[in-house]
Order: sequence, then structure tokens, then C-alpha cells
Amino acid sequence: MDGALAAETRALLASARAWLSELVEEGVDAFPRTPPPARAAPPAAEAGGAGQLDLTVAPDPGPATLRPTLAQVREQLGECTRCRLCEGRTQIVFGDGDPRAALMFIGEGPGETEDLRGLPFVGRAGELLTQMIEKGLGIPRRDVYICNIVKCRPPKNRTPLSDEVASCRPFLDGQIDAVQPRVIVALGKPAASLLLGRDVAITRARGTWHSYRGIPLMPTFHPAFVLRQYTAENRRLVWDDLKAALERSRRTDPT
Ligand code: URA
Repeated sequence: MDGALAAETRALLASARAWLSELVEEGVDAFPRTPPPARAAPPAAEAGGAGQLDLTVAPDPGPATLRPTLAQVREQLGECTRCRLCEGRTQIVFGDGDPRAALMFIGEGPGETEDLRGLPFVGRAGELLTQMIEKGLGIPRRDVYICNIVKCRPPKNRTPLSDEVASCRPFLDGQIDAVQPRVIVALGKPAASLLLGRDVAITRARGTWHSYRGIPLMPTFHPAFVLRQYTAENRRLVWDDLKAALERSRRTDPT
């Protein structure tokens, strides 16, 4: 092989590698034989979270006709005892909002108020999230769908452990399949790491587009973090992310 051809081959290989890395980042691990129908059967599942989160690849949800309803997912969950979090909970906190929402928010896990009331994001962090949705984005909270990566309160609000996240993951994926949001917002590092399939630094991941099971995904700061570090800069960054998420969810083709 002459020098020019070898250099061209190396350049081609390098760009193929870069392209494949981007596909992996986007969650693509196979190409479908036929194009999937609109907003159905995403091309591939992204791997699970990192660090103490699950890294296994979520199963493909299957064709649109097998899409579950939220009621079916809730029924499958039942009075769950699949992990130790069942021992300390008052009740399961499944999710809240419009079953056909264009925007879906995914947090970490219920806190004390959520555990008592059976609804996600109704404590202090929830009040801030609700304000950001209603006053900031100008849409009623009931028009979005809100849930968490685990449905039971972890003791002392600790970060959920990888086996707890793994036990709950099929139900989170079921909620996503049922709602089929146009855009997902991951609130905080645990949710972002789970959905991106790697341990992310939320300060770096936030504000950039990713995808989960073919759905555009925007990671941003958790409202509890914003409450702890209530700076104009942090509020502006979350505001930028939420505006971008809403705008994309309203595009004719958000993908
Ligand atoms: N924090 C979360 O991550 N989820 C809730 O539901 C409440 C607080």
C-alpha cells in the first residue's frame, strides 16, 4: 500500500471509530432491518448507570402494539418487594401527570414528603420544580409527567444502590414506553447516569443533548442541588436546560 493510501485508510478508520463512539453514546447497539414506525420501537436501549448504578442494557420495548399503559405498568409493579427499599416505605411513589405528556421529568427517588403523600416531587425540591414548570415554562404541572428512577424512599434519602435501581428499572422503562414523551429531562446525577449508561458529572453533562431509547434526553441539575446552591448562575443554567427541553418537545420532529 502506498503512503497516501495508507494515510487515507487511517483517516477513514479514525472517522469510523469516532462515528461508532457517537452511536454508542446515543445508545445505538444495532441497526434495525426496517425503519421503525414514528415514535415507536426506539433503535436500541442505552446501557444502565455507572458507579453505584446499574450498567445493564435495558430490553428493547418491542413494537408499538405491545406498548403498555401506565395502569398496566403500575399493576405489574404491584405491592413490590423486589428490593430492600420496600421495608422502609410508607407507600410506593409511582408517578404523576399526563399519561401522554410531551415532557417527562425523571428524578432520583421519593423523599419524606413524597413517601407520605404518594406523589413525586411534592416536598421542597418539588415545590421548586413545580415553580420552574409552571412559572418558568408557563405550563401546568399536570401537563408533564414526573417520576423517579426508584419508586420507594431510600433510608435517610440516601442515593439508591445499584441493585435497587436495577429492580426498579423495568418499571421506569415501562413508564417511558407508556408515556412516549417527546423529550426526557433527567434531574441530577443518578438519573442522568442511569439513562446515559455511565457515571456522568452532571456539571458537564447538563445542557447537552443525549438520547435514551431514541428519545431526546436533556440532563440538568436536580432541584435539591439548586436549593442547596441557590445562585443566580445555577438557576440560569437550569432555566436554559428546561427552555431547550420545552422548545424541542414542541418541534414537529423532536428526534
Ligand atoms: N427528589 C427526587 O429525586 N424525587 C422526588 O420525588 C423528590 C425529591
